[in-house]
Amino acid sequence: FKKIPINGKKTDELYKMTETFNRMMERLEESFLKQQQFVSDASHELNTTLTIIEGYASMLRRWGTDDKSIQEESIESIYEESKRMRKMTRQLLDLASLQQGIEPIREPFNLVECCKQASKLVHKLHNREIKIHSTSRELIIVADPTKIKQLLIILIDNALKYSTKFIEIYISEAEGDMIIRVKDFGIGIAEDEIDLVFERFYRVDRARQRKTGGAGLGLPIAQSIVREHYGSIDIVSEEGVGTEVIVHLPKDGTS
Ligand code: ADP
Repeated sequence: FKKIPINGKKTDELYKMTETFNRMMERLEESFLKQQQFVSDASHELNTTLTIIEGYASMLRRWGTDDKSIQEESIESIYEESKRMRKMTRQLLDLASLQQGIEPIREPFNLVECCKQASKLVHKLHNREIKIHSTSRELIIVADPTKIKQLLIILIDNALKYSTKFIEIYISEAEGDMIIRVKDFGIGIAEDEIDLVFERFYRVDRARQRKTGGAGLGLPIAQSIVREHYGSIDIVSEEGVGTEVIVHLPKDGTS
């Protein structure tokens, strides 16, 4: 984009208009570059996964019938990588639809019950204790129940993935907001990386993450869900001590 040069001789009005135009162009360029980066990261992730699947399929074709251990390793890896790819494409579709700006459903439901359901689902994957503390058995929120459940699943899954002990969830209400805190005692996140984890495809340790199965899309989805509910999401974390994700959502579903 080419900026319009600001000529000192122009009137104040024109000067202001030119400045506004230049700022708009800068923002447009920034979002265009971000979009380009996103497409490139998504292609890279899908390409890496497909390369691995292709490699194992080729091994299976050459030596699979003679060597039982190669057969087992290849089948297992192809299965795991396909699962990873399916999760990633699902998350990409979720992000795309969240960014279309369609208004979410707003209906009243019990946030404590929703949290219990999300915990039950994630518990099946990790089989570790999830302690839920709430100020009441029934805390009603006006929001999209499916999306809030998805948000909770992402946060609970992360808390369990990046720790080895039990995790805790606190649900309370204050000043028109519901407050959800998901707390773990795991590896934590370095201070200079806390803002970065909300970027699409950002992972603190790319090499290790392949094992845990994440593509770095969970927190961006969580943030989009919170934003479309006019809420906020913050992370308080210390490396080696643990992480707490704090979500504020307006109780009545309005900004
Ligand atoms: P992923 O699917 O890789 O977990 P996310 O977007 O959910 O993607 O998270 C991005 C990165 O943030 C993760 O790869 C991990 O490095 C870091 N992270 C997220 N949650 C936690 C947590 N509770 N404790 C430590 N690190 C975390």
